[in-house]
Amino acid sequence: MAARAKSLEVLGQGCHPLNAVAETLAVMENDPTFDAGHGSFLNENGEVELDAAIMEGATLRTGSVCCLSSFENPGRIALAVLRKTEHVLLAGKGAEIFALKQGFRKVDSRSLIHPREILAFEAWVAAGKPDAKIFFAKPENNSLAGATPEKRGTVGVTIGVLNNSGKYNLFAGTSTGGTPGKMAGRVGDVPLVGCGFYADNEGAAVSCTGWGEGLARIVAAKSVSDLCRAGQHPQQAIEAVLRDMYRRTGGRGGLIAVDFLGRTGAGYSTPEMAFSGETALPTSVLI
Ligand code: ASP
Repeated sequence: MAARAKSLEVLGQGCHPLNAVAETLAVMENDPTFDAGHGSFLNENGEVELDAAIMEGATLRTGSVCCLSSFENPGRIALAVLRKTEHVLLAGKGAEIFALKQGFRKVDSRSLIHPREILAFEAWVAAGKPDAKIFFAKPENNSLAGATPEKRGTVGVTIGVLNNSGKYNLFAGTSTGGTPGKMAGRVGDVPLVGCGFYADNEGAAVSCTGWGEGLARIVAAKSVSDLCRAGQHPQQAIEAVLRDMYRRTGGRGGLIAVDFLGRTGAGYSTPEMAFSGETALPTSVLI
């Protein structure tokens, strides 16, 4: 709710919708409830590594960062990549140097670690370091279900703004700490264009959560956008992609979207997905 209120507040101030996306991501990155910024999952070394991305549907301009350990709000840095560079993705050390040049403040990476995640990391080690895919599985297939404290996943925003010519301008953003116990240097779907996010004024704005390797292999966000572009309702498109992802990779996820007609959709094949929006609650895609 606080995140959606931030979107409306920033849009109400007349700011660019890309700022609304970045500031909405920041609200969730600053809330340790989620796997983004503060409170992110820890990698195999017990460290935080953050990925984030932002995209504008009118121009297909996009900006991403990955493998950042010492910044609280990677979504804002992704927006700076979009606005200030000719590139789509900056990684690790180069992203950090860029962020510092842009005036972003570096923090002690340990300040991003929540005590809950240390317990979760220890439980993951004690369970024999299972593959991250199980964290998105149904509780009966997740040997760690109940063993680790409850928390919510990756965060995402999609915005459609009706312009003076009666068309929707679309914007999307996603931010994450990745998956529990991921290899150091692992990059998932989130900062990859078309995988964890996409925005196309001729298709849809889409943001994804879930098992990143599956979302990337199925190019989830662009797949939803392309189905909308071909005439499908975003709800149908999301459900089709989630089913396809499960059938082809065995992975589960959750997606939100708004299309070029302003129609919205939200669905998940994971056990749950936190959501706040202008529309109906997300549908559980039963697989
Ligand atoms: N998709 C994210 C990743 O694989 C994780 C998540 O959504 O919780 O990095």
